[in-house]
Amino acid sequence: MLICCLLETYYFLFKFLVIGNAGTGKSCLLHQFIEKKFKDDSNHTIGVEFGSKIINVGGKYVKLQIWDTAGQERFRFFYWLGGSMFFFHCSRETYNALTNWLTDARMLASQNIVIILCGNKKDLDADREVTFLEASRFAQENELMFLETSALTGENVEEAFVQCARKILNKIESGELDPERMGSGIQYGDAALRQLRSPRRAQAQSAQECGC
Ligand code: GDP
Ligand code: MG
Repeated sequence: MLICCLLETYYFLFKFLVIGNAGTGKSCLLHQFIEKKFKDDSNHTIGVEFGSKIINVGGKYVKLQIWDTAGQERFRFFYWLGGSMFFFHCSRETYNALTNWLTDARMLASQNIVIILCGNKKDLDADREVTFLEASRFAQENELMFLETSALTGENVEEAFVQCARKILNKIESGELDPERMGSGIQYGDAALRQLRSPRRAQAQSAQECGC
């Protein structure tokens, strides 16, 4: 018998939230990101659901803790740092609602919040009501990243979270974001804690690993 013990080691934990009108595909996109498949039962999200995944961002492992919302006010109780804001490009109504979502996000989240705008259901291109150009202008004017995604085919799903996490990491590295500040939405993971507690041992270990 073989018993394996898999230790999850990651450097940072970032808290994310997905927000946007109902029906834009938030739950499906989160499911595609975590499970790598399309969630075809369309049960409505009740309250807040949750998923987490460790991703590799430029050689550093980062754990994303992602909260899926159903549009209620409950997300106001979280500290969060990164987010995906959704619209559905075949529905102008969901696009018009973005300004309100953005105001809420900027008011309630960490000051340095990083947001990616996702125009979801890219696979339904023939029925679009909002052009790529229009949405990318909105994103530019509001300092958001922007991608068109499809929870159905998986296109750009991983990319959306990786881009957001990469931007947060850049902000940490440039000193713009301080993981130790209360309410930053960042936590150190076990890999970082081991280094912080025992920097010499970690240095020795990494020298051993690289053979220098
Ligand atoms: P939420 O209310 O924002 O969480 O939306 P859901 O994830 O529940 O999705 C709403 C509906 O859109 C469901 O019927 C999904 O099957 C469908 N849907 C979600 N994402 C996509 C997508 O990328 N493409 C297509 N064609 N349908 C999608
Ligand atoms: Mg949902």
